[in-house]
Amino acid sequence: MHRNPLGGLVALALAAWACAAPLSTAAPASPTASAEPTTAAAPTAEAATAGPTGEPPTFTIGILIDLDSEPVPAEGLATALAEASRLLQERTGFIYEVLEVVEGRPAVSIEAWVREYVAGKAPPIPDGVVVFSYGDDGFARERGGYSFGVPAPSGFMNDFVSPEVGGRSVYVAVLHWSHRFAACGYDESGNLASEVAVDGQCRNQPGTACTTHNGYSMCANAVGDAYASTPTYFVAANLTHEFLHPFGMHGNYDHYGTEACRDTMGWGADWAFSVADAEYWLGQCPYLFDRFRSSYRP
Ligand SMILES: [Zn+2]
Repeated sequence: MHRNPLGGLVALALAAWACAAPLSTAAPASPTASAEPTTAAAPTAEAATAGPTGEPPTFTIGILIDLDSEPVPAEGLATALAEASRLLQERTGFIYEVLEVVEGRPAVSIEAWVREYVAGKAPPIPDGVVVFSYGDDGFARERGGYSFGVPAPSGFMNDFVSPEVGGRSVYVAVLHWSHRFAACGYDESGNLASEVAVDGQCRNQPGTACTTHNGYSMCANAVGDAYASTPTYFVAANLTHEFLHPFGMHGNYDHYGTEACRDTMGWGADWAFSVADAEYWLGQCPYLFDRFRSSYRP
């Protein structure tokens, strides 16, 4: 694959948001978990306006699968996308519409690969690109995912005009497909080395029992968590988490429960961290969902 010769000449004006997986921010050492995260907080907004056919309006995505990282099974991908659409619809009224799935190998970097893809794609240009990859320097594998933007072809206007970065870019979410929610007992190399949590695992509760769930060793006290409800829920939640970032004011500090989030939401001194709320909002500050919804300019 040849690099787009113009790619290096286009200044990248957008910041990159590197995130830890949802929930890793500000979670207390001994959270009081709720059994019903999805009922913990109602969406603040009415549903987005449905189209003439009655179908929900869509955030269109192209999907790139980095064959140099790990395989993404088609059946699992379809399940994850359906889950991600449901999560987005429940919180904003929008659903994802997949324009195409493309497998390939990034020659230079993930960013260069996405730029080349967007520049060379026949219309329609998607609002967002999902890249399933370990990420540049393994960053997605380390953190679960990250996001940034690439300039779109001239004349393109995104259907979702970010109040922070405008509408002339395509939003990009780089995701580690097999990222493990509440992984338990693994060492730094990813080998299973303990029957109980070590280091900061299980929300920084070393000694927590591990059990096998969704095909890997998971914190036993996380098995009933919404994020563990299916093998693909976590990556589905991460997908939507990353596409919310470009609509926030504070980058990584837009995560649920940060000081910036509390200030923006007007949460006072009596506010307390809620795992259920954090999970419902996919690890993001709730105002991002309002901004996403009101950014729609079809
Ligand atoms: Zn994040």
